[in-house]
Formats: sequence, structure tokens, C-alpha cells
Amino acid sequence: MVLAVDIGGTTIKAEIVDPALDAVRRADVPTPVPRPGPTTEAAGSGPAIVDAVIGASRDLLGDSAAEQRSRVRAAGVAVPGLVDAERGIARFSANLGWRDLPLAGPLRTGLGLPVVIGHDVRLAGEAEWRRGAGRGCDHLLVIVIGTGIAATVVSGGRTISGAAGQIAELGHVVVSPDGPRCGCGARGCLETIASATAIAREYARRTGGEVAGAADVVALLHTDPAAAAVWQEAVDALADGIRTAVAMFTPNRIVIGGGLALAGEALLEPLRRAVKVRAEVFGVPPIVGAAFGARAGLVGAALAAQQAAARAGSADG
Ligand SMILES: [Zn+2]
Repeated sequence: MVLAVDIGGTTIKAEIVDPALDAVRRADVPTPVPRPGPTTEAAGSGPAIVDAVIGASRDLLGDSAAEQRSRVRAAGVAVPGLVDAERGIARFSANLGWRDLPLAGPLRTGLGLPVVIGHDVRLAGEAEWRRGAGRGCDHLLVIVIGTGIAATVVSGGRTISGAAGQIAELGHVVVSPDGPRCGCGARGCLETIASATAIAREYARRTGGEVAGAADVVALLHTDPAAAAVWQEAVDALADGIRTAVAMFTPNRIVIGGGLALAGEALLEPLRRAVKVRAEVFGVPPIVGAAFGARAGLVGAALAAQQAAARAGSADG
């Protein structure tokens, strides 16, 4: 068994995961809010988050029967932003306000377990590729749509990384040059129109009505023309972004994950149609929903921890 942790913008989720990747126990704690000020290790929420992860993990292990606890062999942690998995450092997160935060080392000390960290979207992509909706597929795109949009690209049976280990920042492909200003400085990036956050924000702007999130907009699709219009614009923007990715990587399957994918066919059916009219010339692959839903990051962290446990075991032997 392993411990899996997913550090999100609002919640830290932790699970004890069995070899079949099912959660045996789970705990959620709020993510500590960054202190205002310059983004540095000391000024951001980094140290508080390390403490919160250790606290939640210890509670989870402490609540378990001794026999179960003794079988937890390693921990995997899914981290947002830029991540140096090799050195165990969370390099940068604008949302969580940290820069060059040592993560694996302090967690290893605090938990007394081997600890591996990885980028949350990469781990989610690995989970879907190895064990989920992209299983058996050597040319695969896993797109995670939540507060932002990013993708894991599998090509020729390997995941592709940037020169510094980056994932594919599909959310910052410009799809509307006169569109909303993005946090990256450009205008009309895909995620300014089609992220779950952007959809909720745009609906509220147009109607003056408050919604808690994109799921509320989905619930109004058949009764509120404004909701339907905002949704279709997001679907069209996603299709434009996917067209670019299909042209570059020609995957033979596309998996859609993250919070927005919980909309299911309300998202996938119009998205397939919109991609078909744009990308038919390249050959449009099947577009399917993620298998692990909101757990994908945790499942990927568990897989990474299983590998770390196997390495530690063989080193012991
Ligand atoms: Zn951008």
C-alpha cells in the first residue's frame, strides 16, 4: 500500500491506496492560503503546506490499524505549477505563492517514508494512460480542464516533457487574439475562455447572476440561453485548441479529465462535433472522458509511490 497526496488550490487530498489503486482511507484538509507579499519560499504558503500535508498524512496513518499502517511503503505527492521531480522541489506556483520549495526532503523526514513528487497534470495523465481511459494507447493526449487547462502528451509510447520537464501548456494556446487577458500576459488563451473558472466567470458577467462553478452553468444548459451560449463558446474554443494539438501530435485517442469532464456527454458530445468540423483533415481520434475523474492526480501519485516502493525494496534486498 502507498500514501497518495494531491495538493490543490483549495484542498489537499490524501489517501491510503491499495495495490489495485482503490482508496482504503481518505482525508481532505483546506490548503493554507498564501500570505501576501513577494513569491518566495518564506513569504508564500510553502512551509504551511508542507506542515498541512504532514499533518493530514499522519492523521490518516494514525487512524489506520497498525497492521494496515505497517504496509504503507512510500508516498507520492501531486503538485501544481512547475515541478522538479528529480530533485523533489516545487519550483513555482503563482496560485500557491511558492518558489523553489523543497518538498520531497521535508516530507520524507516528516513521514518516515520514501517520497516522490510529480506535476499533478503529468501524474493524472500517467494514471489515465497506464490504468485508465488511455490504456494501451501509444499516441495519446490527456487534457485536464479545471481552474486552468494543461495536457499530458504520450507519443510513441512515451510521455513528452519540455526541456525543463514541463507539461504541455495547452491552456495558453491563443484561440481568440482579442479575447480576455490571461494571467500569462497574452490575450485570448484557451483557458481564459474554456477553463471551468472562465466559464463560471463569463456566465456571471453576462447575466449578473452568481454561480458557484461551471457545474451550475451545465445544469442550466437546457433552460437558460445565456448558459448555452457561454458553454458553446467554451466548447468551440476547446475544439480550436484541440485542433492545434491534433495537428502537432496526431494522437489516436484524446482523454478529457479534470473538473469540467464531470459534465460528461454534455461536454463530450458537442466537443466531438466541434473538433470534427475543424480537424477532419488530420483524422479525428475518439474523444473520451477520463476514467479516474477527480481522483486522477491521486491515482498517478499512487502509481509513482508504488514505483518508489519497488525501488526502495530492491535497494534493501
Ligand atoms: Zn495564457
